[in-house]
Amino acid sequence: MRFGVSDVCAEHDPGDRHPENPDRIRAIRRALQKRHGIEYVTADPADEDDARTVHDADYVDEIREFCDDGGGSWDPDTVAVEATWRAALASAGLSMWAVDAALDGDDGRTTPFSLGRPPGHHAVADDAMGFCFLNNAAVASQHALDARDVERVVVFDWDVHHGNGTQDIFYDRGDVFYGSIHEDGLYPGTGDIEETGTGDGEGTTMNVPLPAGADDADYCLIFDEAFAPAIESFDPDLFLVSAGFDAHRHDPISRMHVSTDGYGALTTRVRDLADRCDAALSFVLEGGYSLDTLSEGVGMVHEVFDGLVPEGPDTDPSEEAAAVLDDVRDAHGLGSK
Ligand SMILES: [Zn+2]
Repeated sequence: MRFGVSDVCAEHDPGDRHPENPDRIRAIRRALQKRHGIEYVTADPADEDDARTVHDADYVDEIREFCDDGGGSWDPDTVAVEATWRAALASAGLSMWAVDAALDGDDGRTTPFSLGRPPGHHAVADDAMGFCFLNNAAVASQHALDARDVERVVVFDWDVHHGNGTQDIFYDRGDVFYGSIHEDGLYPGTGDIEETGTGDGEGTTMNVPLPAGADDADYCLIFDEAFAPAIESFDPDLFLVSAGFDAHRHDPISRMHVSTDGYGALTTRVRDLADRCDAALSFVLEGGYSLDTLSEGVGMVHEVFDGLVPEGPDTDPSEEAAAVLDDVRDAHGLGSK
């Protein structure tokens, strides 16, 4: 894969007791050293006009000034230092690079993956929250719609948390489909099945909250039976993955049971679906807080594009996941098999 990186992102350092710290990217890069076919690419930062395509101008001024004044705790979770605004623009710029590279034809072994931080999917139009300052996936999606020959974008979010920010920004939009699979009851508490979009966006938001303990078989069931048919009928030109790795069974801040092979199985499905839709495909890093499993997860995504066929789930999906699937089908008029 082609990985987008920026040294500026490491300057956003909320302290080594904070789970979202620069060691995350260092650990990923250390683990990728042992693998073949890795290419690193740098990219220009986003500028404030890019940020303002999805964020309110007042918020952009406020967060820039907050960082210029030395930063601090924006909220109890979301901590900035002086360099955070520069890092946020760099991270958003990497996500724009990832979609541009995919739209320019990078695929297969050169599929782009932005390793930016801070992450983005909790950032709403007028606020930072949940370790996120700028919504990287949203900035990149809007960039593709505005500046490229793209009419419809899918953001598929497999981070264990609901990407409330991405959902909010595109909730009434028919040109962006936002799909999220997440742990029910976890931060930030949004992402109910009934949240399906509004106005022109009716039906273009799909939320699948699964109970704690959901595993690879549950995730694959939901992808195959809910996201794949909905996304295929939406027919995107661009497929963006908000790739968090915090649903891993060893991640310290969730209770899901996805394995490293499970991320491989999901990656295979995402790649095949994007191919069927003839959509450009790119990945943008979100969360993941066990350094070992975060690194293994990113490495697994890379290996799939390098030719590995991961082990599929060898268990049956749970009754709980099947029940959630029925509710999602009802909410989206998908009908059952
Ligand atoms: Zn997360």
